[in-house]
Amino acid sequence: MSKDIRVPFLDLRVADEERATLLAAVDRVLRHGRIVLGPEVAAFEGALADYLGTPFAVGVNSGTDALILGLRALGIGPGDEVILPPLSFVASANAVSLVGATPVFADVGTDLTLDPTSAEALAGPRTRAIMPVHWAGLVCDMTSIMAIAERHGLYVIEDTSQAFGARLNGRMAGTFGDIGTFSMNCMKVLASLGEAGALCARDAGLREKLEVLRYHGLVNRETCVAVSHNGRLDTIQAAMLLERLRTFPQLVARRRDNAAFYDRQLAGAVAVPYRRGEDSHVFYTYTIQTGRRDGLKDYLAAHGIETKIQHLPLLPEQPVYADKVRGHWPTASRLMQQTLCLPVHEKLTPQQREYVAAKVLDFLERS
Ligand SMILES: *Cc1c(COP(=O)(O)O)cnc(C)c1O
Repeated sequence: MSKDIRVPFLDLRVADEERATLLAAVDRVLRHGRIVLGPEVAAFEGALADYLGTPFAVGVNSGTDALILGLRALGIGPGDEVILPPLSFVASANAVSLVGATPVFADVGTDLTLDPTSAEALAGPRTRAIMPVHWAGLVCDMTSIMAIAERHGLYVIEDTSQAFGARLNGRMAGTFGDIGTFSMNCMKVLASLGEAGALCARDAGLREKLEVLRYHGLVNRETCVAVSHNGRLDTIQAAMLLERLRTFPQLVARRRDNAAFYDRQLAGAVAVPYRRGEDSHVFYTYTIQTGRRDGLKDYLAAHGIETKIQHLPLLPEQPVYADKVRGHWPTASRLMQQTLCLPVHEKLTPQQREYVAAKVLDFLERS
């Protein structure tokens, strides 16, 4: 096999056929001129709600804003604690902190998602919510997490930024708890061509509250009833997302096919990603675990294969949180010395994925 193969972790260029579709969608917005919360925003929200099977969805400008607005809509703020995993993008913990609440860190299981037992052990008098993160694209053990929330009277806010489209027992990730939040930034599985996000909720009564909080707490052009900021979803992004939602099933199928290929090649040599049943994973990342992670990463880089370690440091070990937080996360600390994300995106060619698997095995067989 050629030594010149290069395998990027992601490739955000848009292929010709899709580019024509997206440009036509943008062109429609430019012609009708309803740029602020234009008709494509409502259309995308409707399509999302249909896809998720929720009473409504609200489009916002990022996954971070979705978390902040979701927490605020539930009235979570100063004096409250929110239990979340130590393994996430910093946005999860920062959103909790930005609403004035305190993040408390439970551990993860070997599947790298929130360990329900560890989360329950941290529930105390100040705890108001659990924030499971559907890490890497795998839906968490929502059956156990919802049971814990029920026992302790806690809200559940699902950070579904990485797992749009994942399913557990026929139900979409993000629709188990009180609020589901999504990021559609340009790197996510369902991606805008910039920044975008959304929320869904079980309770239809939260819709108006979320829409008011999304734009400066204004109930009409003049009247402000809550302190908030501008978190509106851009109409041009909504127009492109609407197109991408149509082809999303094929895109996820390609990621799952790449993952299944890696499974067949690599199972036995490394720990391959855990699944919680069929369709439970959308492979935002394909995260393997191996005791020889650092050497493997360097070897793959030397052979033109870009990999990532997502994310170190762990949230509670970030300088901004270190020594100031409550919790216990030994499994996360141990496993994060072993994880490596391989390229799994939908544009990988058969030649590229074969090359990646072969190079992983080459390295592990040499010793
Ligand atoms: C990407 C991501 C976010 C933040 O989303 P943005 O749209 O970039 O603000 C939050 N949580 C997790 C787990 C993410 O992966």
